[in-house]
Amino acid sequence: PSLDTIKCSWKVGTTEKTPHSEEQFCPMPPKIMDSALDAIGRTPMVRLSNIMKAEGLKCELLGKCEFLNAGGSVKDRIGRRMLLDAEQSGRIKPGDTLIEATSGNTGIGLSLAAAIKGYNIIITLPEKMSTEKTDVLQALGAKIVRTPTEVDFDHPESHISQAIKLQKEIPNSHILDQYINPSNPLAHYDGTGAEILYQCDNKVDYVFVGTGTGGTITGIARKIKENLPSCKIVGVDPYGSILAMPQTMNERMESYQVEGVGYDFVPRSIDRSVIDDWVKNTDVPTFQMARRLIREEGLFCGGSSGQVVDAAIRYAKEHKLGEGVRIVCVLADNLRNYITKFVSKEWMVAKGFYEFEELKDEEYNKS
Ligand code: PMP
Repeated sequence: PSLDTIKCSWKVGTTEKTPHSEEQFCPMPPKIMDSALDAIGRTPMVRLSNIMKAEGLKCELLGKCEFLNAGGSVKDRIGRRMLLDAEQSGRIKPGDTLIEATSGNTGIGLSLAAAIKGYNIIITLPEKMSTEKTDVLQALGAKIVRTPTEVDFDHPESHISQAIKLQKEIPNSHILDQYINPSNPLAHYDGTGAEILYQCDNKVDYVFVGTGTGGTITGIARKIKENLPSCKIVGVDPYGSILAMPQTMNERMESYQVEGVGYDFVPRSIDRSVIDDWVKNTDVPTFQMARRLIREEGLFCGGSSGQVVDAAIRYAKEHKLGEGVRIVCVLADNLRNYITKFVSKEWMVAKGFYEFEELKDEEYNKS
């Protein structure tokens, strides 16, 4: 038999039959990879069956599991792509220093690529971002500069201004700059977007994506619309951010705890003309849905994934999306980033985010 059709039983390495051994066909994994860079992309697409059922949805809800990339997020794709494109163009060479302003996940993806390819790396990161992210960055050999969360992007203390300042001071240093680098949306045009079309056999009606730099949504939207002009691309933006359109959607200003999404300026990397619709969201439903994705679907994803799935469910109900409609939600990062935050029940209680879930737990216990 070809390697693709070899049957495997649950007990790997044995021929012992299990109840599932006749149904389980697993294609073999790819052969030896040159590095972890090859373990970025080709992420699974999973049906969110339990949540669909619990919410009474007739439409189909799928999760694109970007949290299963080698470094744990969708941003691994641009870390690899920005570094390789810059290397290929002759802009950077091993031994140089890369500097990047990020909310963490681009830093992890870029530091992973830098570690493998032999670059020094400095990450400027707002204080709000979790210590889990800084620990991983440090383990990858990155130097970290923490910057105040509450300052505007153009303030001299912001993570973006600090990156520019360091680049002027350090010889052979480069800011690949996810906010303007075309390799950012291109990684998702060639990768994430193309994979979604392939995995869904070109049958996708809606794609919901959380927006930060907007590289993910822009690349996905451009690729999908070229092939499926009728597919709607929906951006998900927290209250307190100004990315959604029309601007009147952004009037309610509040600070938010969810990480990696939302900005106080519109980055050049986002092309809002390819986004058909927007949904705003808040922290409470965001973190509660992130916890439900873990508990009900066994998906180890982060806060912005909860924000996107909650937005998609609300949208599907409001727009009465029924049988035959297929929604893809991009699940951007891994719960590893938030072990001391929303994954912790204590943190949820301390932030006042737990109440509703607690009530639900009591109902579960009664039945
Ligand atoms: N979710 C998380 C957790 C992220 O870190 C990011 C990247 N900042 C996004 C979503 C949004 O990705 P993009 O920058 O491509 O818009």
